[in-house]
Amino acid sequence: MLPFSSAQLSQTTSHLTPLLRSFSHPSPPPPNLLRRKLPLRVRSLDAAQPYDYEAQLRSNFRKSSSLKIAILGFGNFGQFLAKTFVSQGHTILAHSRSDYSSVASELRVDFYDDPHDLCEQHPDVVLLSTSILSTERVLRSIPFQRLKRSTLFVDVLSVKEFPRDLLLKCLPPEFDILCTHPMFGPESGKHSWAGLSFVYDRVRIGGGESRVDRCEKFLDIFAREGCRMVEMSCAEHDRYAAGSQFVTHTVGRVLEKFGLESSPINTKGYETLLDLVENTSGDSFDLYYGLFLYNDSAMEQLKRLDMAFKSIQNELFGHLHRIYRKQLLGDAEGARDLGTTRSVVQKLLSNGAPPNAEPPSDPDSAT
Ligand code: NAP
Repeated sequence: MLPFSSAQLSQTTSHLTPLLRSFSHPSPPPPNLLRRKLPLRVRSLDAAQPYDYEAQLRSNFRKSSSLKIAILGFGNFGQFLAKTFVSQGHTILAHSRSDYSSVASELRVDFYDDPHDLCEQHPDVVLLSTSILSTERVLRSIPFQRLKRSTLFVDVLSVKEFPRDLLLKCLPPEFDILCTHPMFGPESGKHSWAGLSFVYDRVRIGGGESRVDRCEKFLDIFAREGCRMVEMSCAEHDRYAAGSQFVTHTVGRVLEKFGLESSPINTKGYETLLDLVENTSGDSFDLYYGLFLYNDSAMEQLKRLDMAFKSIQNELFGHLHRIYRKQLLGDAEGARDLGTTRSVVQKLLSNGAPPNAEPPSDPDSAT
């Protein structure tokens, strides 16, 4: 039932009638215009295409190169990656043990409390950014049956052989696997990723064009930011990282406990130490512990660091000691002390083995 009568309606719209009539029966052009032949003049070379053609092309291109990426483990590093993924126009979903829904909405990420709901969104890529220690538990809790039959799994763990073996063991055979390690974090990559290394290993990528394409699109995220793309096997990565990563984090943590402070007369060397502390202090203890647990040589490196520290101490105190002894007892005793310091340094250089140790007789017993 209308709230007004038809008479009222015709009264209100009567002033529109001439206008409407002029649209349906356009008045003829004036006669002088009909008589003159106007030459065709091009007024615009770049005339707007129907339906905003360029914008449509741009949006189609974006859609064709954008991925739907589900991040599992939305802590420090997961959020850091999400910011750049979103800025490149990818659709990001996330799930984590803790509730990050408000952080996620600030980052324009859809947060799912339940991994079943997330998997039902059929992401192209599932990215594991969990702590090294919790990765197996998280992986085993994913309802694989709710994902697309072909999904790309990517991990960003700081160790590589462990997730590679785990993913090969746990994932259905039709899923693709890309193991990666962005060699930077929220501190070192806070301003730009340009020039920072991104290590990756295409562990298992199916033969179809779309699967190869999906993997390349994912790698392109890092290439577009200017990362130094380094393809190497997981085993090679772990061999290189074993000697550097754990030592870097350990020294950073020791210096943090030591309590370095900035001063108005910082040298370049001191600035480097302050940077190291800043880069490592934001990382969780879980991350550091994971590096210790999954690095076969971590224990040995810790012992060598300890020996190196003691050797430096010995050298310093030895010098001081010798001067006093020389003054008190003469040259012969001082020379004996010098010999002890040298033997400690040699032990350190030979990786902890006693300087004059005999080689083991049974070759199998050597490690
Ligand atoms: P992290 O402490 O190594 O990992 C934190 C993440 O693990 C959080 O999302 C956390 O979830 C999840 N988590 C921890 N324990 C869990 C459990 N029992 N069950 C389920 N989830 C659990 O810190 P991160 O810096 O964010 O690193 C994430 C991954 O990226 C690690 O594998 C790390 O090696 C790698 N990575 C880090 C950096 C870096 O600079 N930070 C650089 C390269 C690679 P909740 O927050 O929901 O509890």
